[in-house]
Amino acid sequence: MMTLNDIATAYVKLVLAVGQHDRSYVDAYYGPAQWQHDTVDIALTDLRRMAEQLINQLNALPAQAQEELQQRREFLGLQLGAVGAFIRQLSGIQVSFDEESLALYDAVSPALDANSLDAILDELDSLVPGQGDLNARMTRYNRDFEIPRDKLDAVFSAAIHESRARTRRHISLPAEEDFEIEYVSDQVWSAYNWYKGNSYSLIQVNTDFPMLINRAIDLASHEGYPGHHVFNLLMEKHLVNEKGWMEYCIYPLYSPMSFLAEGSANYGIEIVFPAAERLVFEKEILFPLAGINPARAELYYRIQAVLQKLSYAGNRVAQRYLDGLIDPAEAIALLMKYALSDQKKSAQRLAFIEQHRSYVINYNLGQDSVQEYVEKRAGKDPQQRWRVFAELLSHPKTASMMLRP
Ligand SMILES: [Zn+2]
Repeated sequence: MMTLNDIATAYVKLVLAVGQHDRSYVDAYYGPAQWQHDTVDIALTDLRRMAEQLINQLNALPAQAQEELQQRREFLGLQLGAVGAFIRQLSGIQVSFDEESLALYDAVSPALDANSLDAILDELDSLVPGQGDLNARMTRYNRDFEIPRDKLDAVFSAAIHESRARTRRHISLPAEEDFEIEYVSDQVWSAYNWYKGNSYSLIQVNTDFPMLINRAIDLASHEGYPGHHVFNLLMEKHLVNEKGWMEYCIYPLYSPMSFLAEGSANYGIEIVFPAAERLVFEKEILFPLAGINPARAELYYRIQAVLQKLSYAGNRVAQRYLDGLIDPAEAIALLMKYALSDQKKSAQRLAFIEQHRSYVINYNLGQDSVQEYVEKRAGKDPQQRWRVFAELLSHPKTASMMLRP
């Protein structure tokens, strides 16, 4: 009979084998190199059978007496279910957007009410300076908040060093933890964290589009501190190294792990930079470094806060597009209307949707779920929020696990 540890090892090898069929699938792996050689050239039909067998073996295990082990088992079960679902997707079996997100991320994005979206658009209409078409005004307005390319590294580095210093006051990080920043182009994302193991990350920033000033702190916190870099190193330290739970040495992108990863990375932005403190840092440090007038920061951030309220509309555009209800031109038009991004940026967004599909729900629904989870337990106290947040990252839960009292 297989133990939980045996199933964990088999799961890692299964994910590595599935990764041979899709380049984006294995987001991070720092387990034994030999396992990568054990897992080449396995056909999808065989992988599908292996996934089903592992799920049956996991279900046959007796209940774990310790809560921590029961949680480990439940998380692994949902991860395995997602591997099976992704193999079926790779095999060409189609399901609806909502079925896909439930199977891969253990969550479904809520239905939206068009009237409430229009009310938010009206609110923006009154805030954004100028007359006429809102998208065109927004595009013109944003131009003044672009970080000049020759100042990008200074601004982004200042943001990430500050988010690191602030995170270190609340979460104990290994002394050797470190990262490198690289500027790249021709990608569907704005930035990416590649976790390499040994508490080390490569953070890539895409320069296809000028970075808007708010994205410096957003991306530094999301990719770095207390976002992806910190999440990965806490899992490595507490779960892989201390407990020997090998399933955490691999991160399959299309899995419930991403709901917590993206959700905590986005909620982490306001944990590390609460709105009022953030505005001070922006006005005193980042706006001057970028050569942008700090007197304009307040209105800019009021507009950002309203824009954030529209983010779920993007999920529904993705759903309608991937379910075949609208064509690319209609999808871009809806993104321009509800995300207020210009034509080119909306086309980049659609390329992301095509590549990563229902993954998009992890950002906003994930953020709101992590926020609700943390604030229900920690209330308004910032210290308590950090504590519950770090605890969650060290003991991962999926979307449905987070919903439980
Ligand atoms: Zn991310």
